[in-house]
Amino acid sequence: MRHPLLLLALVSLAQATAPLAVAAPKARVVKAATAATPESIAIGLAARLADTSENGLAYGLVRDLTTEIGPRLAGTDAEKRAADWAMARFKALGIDTVWTEPFTIKGWQRGIERAEITAPSPQPLVITALGNTPATPPEGIEAPIVLFPTYKAFIDAPADTVRGRIVVVTEQTVRLQDGGGYGAAGALRRNGPAEASRRGAVAYLLRSLGTHEHRFPHTGSTVFPEDVTPLPAAALSPPDAEQLERLVAKGEPVRLRLTLSPQSLGPVSSQNVIAEIRGREKPDEIILIGAHLDSWDLGTGAIDDGAGVAIVMAAAKMIRDLPTPPRRTVRIVLFGAEEPGLLGARAYVAAHKAALDKHVLATEADFGQGPVYRFSTNVADPAHPALERIRASLRPLGIIPGTNRAHGGPDIGPMQALGVPVVNLELDGTDYFDTHHTPDDVLNRIEPARISQTSAAYAIYTYLAAELEGDYRPTAAPQ
Ligand SMILES: [Zn+2]
Repeated sequence: MRHPLLLLALVSLAQATAPLAVAAPKARVVKAATAATPESIAIGLAARLADTSENGLAYGLVRDLTTEIGPRLAGTDAEKRAADWAMARFKALGIDTVWTEPFTIKGWQRGIERAEITAPSPQPLVITALGNTPATPPEGIEAPIVLFPTYKAFIDAPADTVRGRIVVVTEQTVRLQDGGGYGAAGALRRNGPAEASRRGAVAYLLRSLGTHEHRFPHTGSTVFPEDVTPLPAAALSPPDAEQLERLVAKGEPVRLRLTLSPQSLGPVSSQNVIAEIRGREKPDEIILIGAHLDSWDLGTGAIDDGAGVAIVMAAAKMIRDLPTPPRRTVRIVLFGAEEPGLLGARAYVAAHKAALDKHVLATEADFGQGPVYRFSTNVADPAHPALERIRASLRPLGIIPGTNRAHGGPDIGPMQALGVPVVNLELDGTDYFDTHHTPDDVLNRIEPARISQTSAAYAIYTYLAAELEGDYRPTAAPQ
């Protein structure tokens, strides 16, 4: 369904006009027909976000964030400016209860990044360093490569095939609507450099975790456990990975030179930005919607996660403008430092541990611009009447019921692990890994109609979750 909002607009229009047409003669009928239900209020919120042009609220927010701030690498002044921007923008939207919660992280910044084939046919390659990786010597590392078509082939290979070499793994990321291809290939980036270090390799290159064929690479973080010496590591653009595959297939030894100069910066400051719309009956009970404010440094973080920031801010603005707030408090958390490893999410849990049992439901928008195609939960009783009413209200937007295995989103993981029930408004991620963590993650990739439907869905869900009675504990173990 290309424009589910058109359907929504018609539903909304029918509800708005029908009572006027039939009710004029009898005041009693007018009263019955116009009594607001939570569902009709929710649909009203969504209808106000139904502008599928660049004048839409959510589109305007992601445009301004990516234009006025640009890239927002965790722990940098740019991330701090983004936090200031978000504080000011919340207030401009009429959401006055807003504060920041700072925390300390280890800073990292990108430097020079160059790779070239030195033999048998010298030529440059397009690469980018992975976050958290160390520099090579200034003159670079020059070594023979050993290429593996899959991560498993690398892990299964005897260590002496790897020692002293540059490991290259060229496994492809599969394109799937739910992003499952990224999950399946994630170890390639997260664990590959550490595994290569353990086996005595001198550097590690992977085919970018991306689903396109363009000549730009995808960055992202990697993890070095305490007992592993950090290893220089970078991602190749997809065509460059294929170039190496073709050369290796010709049978001659292939040598590369890799030069990287990223820097670890020691302790730097990051922050979560938190805003609230206070509940009218149960202000201590929280419906949490989140997104993350930091981004990688190559693009302007429009898809990851400027879109999510805009979606939850737009949904919150609609709820803020209601004449009567919902029963429970709606809390919007714009997490800092998600990309280097959910550091803002962990700081949030540490700061709010005592109140986590008052977090009724939590979710995040961190999978691009949508549209939302499915609604999933991870609660004690997925057939709870309030959840059924939410599902029914999302249906006109083209959103179908999903599973009871929701994870809530990356930044929701740490609180879910401590028992907070979660849901997912599942975003269509078919093209998410075409731009994720690349220089191409810019405003030009945002389509107003898509982000408009998504912000409408978040408004419906958030309002109903905050308004309808329901307790969703205990949850199943996180999956
Ligand atoms: Zn993200």
